[in-house]
Amino acid sequence: MTDNAPASTTAPRTPTPLTLLGTGAMGTALARAWLGAGHPVTVWNRTRARAEPLAAEGATVAASAAEAVAANRLVVVCLLDDASVGEALEGAELTGRDLVNLTTGTPAQGRARAAWAQARGARFLDAGIMAVPPMIADPRSGAYVFYSGSPELFEEHDETLAVPAGTRYVGADPGFAALHDVALLSAMDGMFSGVLHAFALIRREDIVPTDFAPLLVSWLVAMAPAVHKAAEQLESGDHGKDIVSNLAMQVAGNATLLATAEEQGVSAELLTPYTSLMERWLAAGHGDEDTTGMVELLDLRQK
Ligand code: NDP
Repeated sequence: MTDNAPASTTAPRTPTPLTLLGTGAMGTALARAWLGAGHPVTVWNRTRARAEPLAAEGATVAASAAEAVAANRLVVVCLLDDASVGEALEGAELTGRDLVNLTTGTPAQGRARAAWAQARGARFLDAGIMAVPPMIADPRSGAYVFYSGSPELFEEHDETLAVPAGTRYVGADPGFAALHDVALLSAMDGMFSGVLHAFALIRREDIVPTDFAPLLVSWLVAMAPAVHKAAEQLESGDHGKDIVSNLAMQVAGNATLLATAEEQGVSAELLTPYTSLMERWLAAGHGDEDTTGMVELLDLRQK
């Protein structure tokens, strides 16, 4: 594992040549990182004009995906979605290739793509990028990528993969990179839905959003460590130990949140999915506990 290692210090002594399929916003940032670290890079993009600017920076632009795949053993794919990966690689000879899929997908897509690649004679890693393009190759940005699948492939190419962003290998199950990626993104959605609601509450008042933002950030940062306690509760199965703010108190507090939304003329549609879940868990007799046990209500597989 290489966490956010600086590109300048992670390039192997003899930089591994690689192929990159997809020079969209993310693919271009990745290509520039590897080129900047001295890796010979062959690129292909469906719309060739989008790949051509990289030629001036030292990349070889291939005429087809099959030609690009034939150029190097290490093949990195960063396309729009899983369907585009299947489409782009349809005619390519993958035997003996090391295929690293940086395209965002679901865990099931990662597993199916791994079986698909193995059936074609390739080793496979799936990945989930925890960064936006400007964070790539910036060691201070905190950018990293989850990888899962072939441990041998990861071990062999970790140094090269660490050039654009830190690497976190999360297991041999090729679905795990996507699962970690999507779990984090889902948590982010929840956080930003709360942020949007908070801004909506103050929007029509004499409160300057840029004055309010630091308060919001420091509050979210102060609350974030509660995630560790939630994890401990999930591991122990004990949701009633050392409770600071029990569910009954929080449900009572929600009434104030909902009433304030109404007073401010703000829709509560981002709040109510969560507050309703809390009410259901309270009704099920968990008022003395923390909220973590509510995962039971989200578990569709046990129903
Ligand atoms: P872009 O929309 O900029 O680029 C999409 C790329 O996919 C282009 O190269 C496009 O080719 C190609 N493509 C789309 N459909 C097909 C197809 N059917 N066959 C072949 N190629 C196809 O997206 P990004 O580069 O930003 O994203 C690429 C991946 O990176 C996505 O999976 C995204 O989720 C992931 N990612 C992106 C982040 C971001 O902030 N941008 C953050 C984290 C992950 P063409 O130029 O011809 O249209």
